[in-house]
Amino acid sequence: MKRILVTGGAGFIGSHLCERLLNEDNEVICLDNFFTGSKQNIIHLLDNPYFELVRHDITTPYVVEVDEIYNLACPASPVHYQYNAIKTVKTSVMGAINVLGLAKRLRAKVLQASTSEVYGDPNVHPQKEDYWGNVNPIGPRSCYDEGKRCAETLFMNYNLQNDVKIKIIRIFNTYGPRMHPNDGRVVSNFIVQALNGQDITIYGEGKQTRSFQYVDDLLEGMIRMMATKDSFTGPVNIGNPVEFSMLELAEMVLKLTHSKSKLTFKPLPQDDPTQRRPDITLAKNELDGWEPKIPLEEGLEKTIFYFKNLLNK
Ligand code: NAD
Ligand code: UDP
Repeated sequence: MKRILVTGGAGFIGSHLCERLLNEDNEVICLDNFFTGSKQNIIHLLDNPYFELVRHDITTPYVVEVDEIYNLACPASPVHYQYNAIKTVKTSVMGAINVLGLAKRLRAKVLQASTSEVYGDPNVHPQKEDYWGNVNPIGPRSCYDEGKRCAETLFMNYNLQNDVKIKIIRIFNTYGPRMHPNDGRVVSNFIVQALNGQDITIYGEGKQTRSFQYVDDLLEGMIRMMATKDSFTGPVNIGNPVEFSMLELAEMVLKLTHSKSKLTFKPLPQDDPTQRRPDITLAKNELDGWEPKIPLEEGLEKTIFYFKNLLNK
């Protein structure tokens, strides 16, 4: 039995990860400051004697004896990470220093949840791991993008200088049950609006693209990445390579919810990337042929089912 620390474990992805690690007979310590996560996400795990919940902010060191660390603590939606931009940078950078220091002392393995946002508004399409990105260092998204880029730098340097066993995954847009209904991200926004009969808010003309990955596919990639040989650090893209425009996404959500909501067009936020799609060749090669299995329509159905219950629809 391994003892595993999941920072950001009460968030959307973290709560699914805690559940899966427990199901695979691990002991799990979930650390969270509940900024965007909630007890509701992990309430069903609290009775499990192999699960521990710790209220803690990762910007200050936390000491515990573990074999592995998944570092997920960081708000992920633009609305939330821009709410307190300085805190977002601190969470990524000081959080990375704190988990890396812990991993160094314990000789534990540590995985960083990095992001496709390190590619910014990419000039290369689809994005491969050797593309350095196109990020505005002083724009409204920079607290998140540059925080995550600096975290990658720290991870690589703790590996090179101190032999810390690190893994970096670059996660592309992921959705599923337990996304926060007011999170501001496009999938939860469209589903909640469609179920409530409100207008669907398309930012810009809706021609910008994203590649949406269902949360279970991400978890499989994450866990396979943690199990790779020590010499493989990544970064590795984990995402679904099928690309959709926001208009196509809106149409699919309307069809699946049988909603009569209308589309409404709002200004495109500054520095909003125009396109994004992962090249997943490296993940396929290094993670035993890993690739996403759940098509958007199927994943949306599961997510809509979750939001229907949550909103009593
Ligand atoms: P989320 O906001 O639901 O989860 C983040 C969790 O971290 C929350 O529970 C929050 O309370 C916690 N947290 C935030 N700041 C903290 C701090 N200072 N100390 C302790 N806990 C803190 O978001 P998510 O979608 O579950 O994302 C999880 C991770 O995956 C994040 O690091 C995010 O950057 C990364 N990621 C997510 C996506 C995506 O599409 N969902 C894409 C790329 C990367
Ligand atoms: N978006 C939209 N309507 C919304 C929320 C988001 O059209 O109600 C757009 C947003 O401008 C972006 C895309 O959907 O182009 C994905 O946004 P999200 O915040 O989910 O993720 P990110 O921009 O970080 O990839």
